[in-house]
Amino acid sequence: MSLPHGIEIVLAPNPSVYTGSGTNTVAIGTRDHGCVVVDPASESADHLDRLADIVTGYGGLSAILITHGHHDHLDGATSLRDRFEAPIAAWSREAHPGVDIELRDRQLLRAGRRTIEAIYTPGHRFDHLCFLLPQSQTLLAGDLVAGAGTVLISPPEGDMDEYLNSLRRVQLLRPACIVPGHGPVIEDTLALLADYIRHRQAREKSILDLIRTAQIGVDAITESVYAGLDASLLQLARQTVRAHMLKLQRDGAIERVTDCCGTDEWRRAS
Ligand SMILES: [Zn+2]
Repeated sequence: MSLPHGIEIVLAPNPSVYTGSGTNTVAIGTRDHGCVVVDPASESADHLDRLADIVTGYGGLSAILITHGHHDHLDGATSLRDRFEAPIAAWSREAHPGVDIELRDRQLLRAGRRTIEAIYTPGHRFDHLCFLLPQSQTLLAGDLVAGAGTVLISPPEGDMDEYLNSLRRVQLLRPACIVPGHGPVIEDTLALLADYIRHRQAREKSILDLIRTAQIGVDAITESVYAGLDASLLQLARQTVRAHMLKLQRDGAIERVTDCCGTDEWRRAS
């Protein structure tokens, strides 16, 4: 689909199992009034040169915005700052020691003549922000959702309960278009957000069903819930199961027990 005028995506050259084909770096601005760059994502000289060309076309860089403190989003930020003397803005300095501006929830920023609103959406990581362009209801979603597949929720930096709350919060914003951190632009935004919530709820139900019949560990749950998953992805799946277990424990639905070998297992809360 075509994006609203003044929003450009540049695919960073950092493909991997986590990033798919790479990270979507986004430039937002108004010609001759400057721009912001969201998630520079890579130290690649070619990528930074491409971003520099875009920035120059807009007439300057007012800020570098970071959705969250994963390298596939914040890499390149310091190099861009050094080139254009623009501040790095993120939720907290825990995202990146070089952060110049710590953003608040619902803080308004300027990108050329456009307004951008920072939306605090923890879950994938405790410092996660989305950026909303209210005029076009375009949401830059970072790793809240992906254009294909799902995103990783890995404790302790990830939290399933917060993640679901963030998805519900973004549902209420009713974005017209979502630019994810990875994958293609999403038009059917409300259907996607509802699918994401349903998917996590279904996963949670499968886990609860397993625990209803047995005291069981994370490895066994993962093997059952993710039967047939490529072995290279099993560690990521285990992390997601752990995130579900911690949420269910907090909900009071399950409790942790330690077996005779010192291994953690889980059972229904009594
Ligand atoms: Zn991430």
